Amino acid sequence: MTEPAVASSDASNLAMTAERDGDSWILDGRKWYVSGVLHPRCRYMMTVAHTDPDGPRHGRHTQFIVPVDTPGVTVVRNLPKFGYFDADGHVELAFDQVRLGDDAVLGRVGGGFAIGQARLGPARVQHCMRLIGMAEQALRLMCERSQSRETFGAPVSTRANVMDWIAEARIDIDAARLTVLRTAWLMDRQGDKASAPEMSKIKVQILRTATTVLDRAIQVFGAAGVSDDTPLARWYATVRSLRIADGPDEVHLMAIARRELRRHEVSS
Ligand SMILES: Cc1cc2nc3c(=O)[nH]c(=O)nc-3n(C[C@H](O)[C@H](O)[C@H](O)COP(=O)(O)OP(=O)(O)OC[C@H]3O[C@@H](n4cnc5c(N)ncnc54)[C@H](O)[C@@H]3O)c2cc1C
Repeated sequence: MTEPAVASSDASNLAMTAERDGDSWILDGRKWYVSGVLHPRCRYMMTVAHTDPDGPRHGRHTQFIVPVDTPGVTVVRNLPKFGYFDADGHVELAFDQVRLGDDAVLGRVGGGFAIGQARLGPARVQHCMRLIGMAEQALRLMCERSQSRETFGAPVSTRANVMDWIAEARIDIDAARLTVLRTAWLMDRQGDKASAPEMSKIKVQILRTATTVLDRAIQVFGAAGVSDDTPLARWYATVRSLRIADGPDEVHLMAIARRELRRHEVSS
């Protein structure tokens, strides 16, 4: 979805065009931070383009399935996260007169926004599950390291602030795990759309937890924490980037706040 030229956290801004030409659609534009394209088994991409500039704000865009080897699709470059490159890539893509048939349309023309919303839910839960795993591993590393290093005559693990960090990490990770489980349960029972606010909540909550746990684990490791000798620095880059990817924190907070305000609406 995301485009370098427009603020893409508001998906209604997306400007790549898909124009009708006989029986075909012609796509022109540029996307970036497209994850997974460099995976050797990646054959298809899902993208969204403008099909009706005069349509209603949430009915202007359409989703397309694009084979990665379609003529006119070019990988411009692989993009880093704080200097780290992921093997499966986060690439910038140029779409230059990319011709697709009607069978490339996912869902209905103009229905791109709704599909985007429906599709993001399960992916978000999966992100959160991976983040809990990362935070759990960071806590384990923090415990091991703090017991094996001594400063000023005592193991680092005996310092009150480090014990607090360890305890708080345990509390926050356990709370985060339960919230993710509850959200997945709600999605099964009431569907993705009705569970959207819960998905926003877990994204913000888990990323805050994982960011804090990793930050503290890095601190406990000293210089080794920012080196490549442990996975912590790379994980930190991933976690920090995810506070932007898949919708910035602020957009999720806005969705949560709007829902609360509606629940307690005051008529003027
Ligand atoms: C590692 C990584 C992987 C990614 N993978 C993908 C992918 O596979 N597919 C894809 O389509 N995109 C992907 N993205 C892109 C990501 O989803 C976008 O960067 C994100 O949606 C934000 O869009 P933007 O960068 O255009 O920021 P902008 O829309 O320009 O927003 C910039 C900042 O404005 C602020 N802001 C925005 N709205 C509000 C608001 N309502 N209130 C307060 N502040 C606000 C936020 O702080 C936000 O970070 C990835 C990004 C990264 C870093």
